[in-house]
Amino acid sequence: MKVFYSDHFVLPLPEGHRFPMVKYSMLRERVADSGIAANGGLLVPRAVTDGEILRAHGAGFLRRVANGELDRKEVRRIGFPWSERMVERSRRASGGTVGACLAALEEGFAANLAGGTHHAFADRGEGFCVFNDSAIAARAMQARRHVERVVVIDTDVHQGNGTAAILRGDPSIFTFSIHGEKNFPFNKEESDLDVPLPDGADDAAFLDALEAGLERVFDAADADLAIYLAGADPFEGDRLGRLSVSKAALAERDRMVLGGCRERGIPVAVTMAGGYAREISHTVDIHLQSIKTASELHDKQKGSPIG
Ligand SMILES: [Zn+2]
Repeated sequence: MKVFYSDHFVLPLPEGHRFPMVKYSMLRERVADSGIAANGGLLVPRAVTDGEILRAHGAGFLRRVANGELDRKEVRRIGFPWSERMVERSRRASGGTVGACLAALEEGFAANLAGGTHHAFADRGEGFCVFNDSAIAARAMQARRHVERVVVIDTDVHQGNGTAAILRGDPSIFTFSIHGEKNFPFNKEESDLDVPLPDGADDAAFLDALEAGLERVFDAADADLAIYLAGADPFEGDRLGRLSVSKAALAERDRMVLGGCRERGIPVAVTMAGGYAREISHTVDIHLQSIKTASELHDKQKGSPIG
């Protein structure tokens, strides 16, 4: 399976910064060791162009990001200090989702070991997100006439507020978010379907709600392509997530989303989104599990292309 990585475009952070940057290189190493992306499948994405970014973001925002002209409030909201390398990394991370979408359209499944930056709005970044890779990639696929309809399946514990806001009023892209009701962001946006869960929601509560949600999503979205945000932060050991979902249930989540797409012949690009476990290895385990499940389905359907 094709897997895109951009962790070597390092975003310089001050010591003690709470963002777990190291998870990306750890994950890439484990993907490489696993053989999931053997035979040259582990790929460096190109950077998304201004033209691609502008399908999802305002020109003023892009200019302020690119030129380092964000004001202090805007920088604080993003949560990363501005640097040239931050801009390059953000472009590459979105490029990974574009690459994964293209590969998925050919092979059914592909993954980006970054992305899922769903708190980025048209005119501002937020919560460690600069550019909204889902919106950029979905519209890139539409602009190239590869697809008409896209569904964004966001299972990160935080609501996909930026994605919902950017894509509101766009009937060609269906946005679904299942998240912790009391988790950041505290002012939620309106997705096409939101499923908020109470604090402490356990495996059964999470999976039941997901199953019911997915049924509605697949019916309503009628999509030619799915972008799946496989956030690791609904995990019970997550520092930021307020849910209580086990690793086994998150693996079941992956099977439900990815298997559901496969049954309906919808290609899927998997992206990572958040994950802030007290022990980073748990976050990496959960992300690796998502990639493995996609890879198994990818290998199963070799020779029987979908779509
Ligand atoms: Zn999150």
